[in-house]
Amino acid sequence: MLLSADLHVHLGRDASGHPVKIPASARLTLEGVVARAREVGLDAVGVVEGHNPCLRRQLQEWVQQGRAVAFREGFWLPEPGLVLLLGMEMELALPPASGRRAHYVWFPEEWEDLPRRLDAVLRRLKNPCLSTPLLPLDPAQVAAWGGVFFPAHAFTPFRGALAQYPHLYPPGVRWLELGLSANTEMANAWPELSSTVFLTHSDAHSLSTVGREFTLLDAPAASPQGVLQALAQGAVLANVGLPPALGKYHAATCRAGHRVENPQASLCPQCGAEVVRGVAPLLAERAAGGTLPWRPPYRERVMLAAVPGLGASALAKVLASWREIAAREVVAGEWFDTAVRQGVGERIRRLRAGEGHYELGGGGRYGRIRI
Ligand SMILES: [Zn+2]
Ligand SMILES: [Zn+2]
Ligand SMILES: [Zn+2]
Repeated sequence: MLLSADLHVHLGRDASGHPVKIPASARLTLEGVVARAREVGLDAVGVVEGHNPCLRRQLQEWVQQGRAVAFREGFWLPEPGLVLLLGMEMELALPPASGRRAHYVWFPEEWEDLPRRLDAVLRRLKNPCLSTPLLPLDPAQVAAWGGVFFPAHAFTPFRGALAQYPHLYPPGVRWLELGLSANTEMANAWPELSSTVFLTHSDAHSLSTVGREFTLLDAPAASPQGVLQALAQGAVLANVGLPPALGKYHAATCRAGHRVENPQASLCPQCGAEVVRGVAPLLAERAAGGTLPWRPPYRERVMLAAVPGLGASALAKVLASWREIAAREVVAGEWFDTAVRQGVGERIRRLRAGEGHYELGGGGRYGRIRI
């Protein structure tokens, strides 16, 4: 059974209104995420603030009210028909006590493993529920706890594990999140990743970006267990995500926004500002020749809101008729031309065919679509 899974979604506020992830939108509550997942047509969402006790209490209330069904592995929300997994994004240092830190996401086999494993560690922190806490744990230790554990936005210059310490990348890591600036083809060039399963998630810090990227899984059932099983088996049918050229860290770019061609430069030759490393040069450097392993396809897609010509009122019209994923993937171009505006259908067709022109993103700024 085909399931679209976006397993890296943040919350901005918990049920009592306290800030959770900074910076993230205040509208990014659990209620908001569920409503947005329905609008997008996602089958599974992973919230990465599962260490927040307030969130877990809220879900237990939903269970009592019949809004959620609890399983060992996660939750099922009968309305809108959504698998909800609780995980945690954490910052870990590797080697431990080194200054090199990276972000990882962990989805335990049982969601109650989050408090079981982590409450004692989190209690020692000043603000354990705020942002992505730095934990005094070794990545190998967390991986040994079972479940699904992967480097988040693996190649990004800030907190991407493979950008921080490529030489230390432990072989045998089973999953990896491509992040918004890389695609399958680029990451496939990294020889050590030949047996690693690539995942795509939105890393949403706002409601409108929930579902921006998702992994299409072949799962035995639309249940929390089904999603974890599909991940364990590496049953990925496709990765759907942003064209990497649009990603915030795709090209090496200085803080003032100039593209920097020399991969070794740390200061911009034009203005002297600090260079933010790019994902594209990092992966190009690692590229090995020869035959590369077969991979599920990476489908480049942008959110409808980013399609030129689809303003707020046009977008509302589309979403009143279709789920976002259906509109992005399969709704006929003629429908857009008739119901929205002449010419939009052709843009959607060209974006689906990968014929968009992109102004490269970099230095923390997203690229732009020219079509
Ligand atoms: Zn992160
Ligand atoms: Zn994140
Ligand atoms: Zn510059």
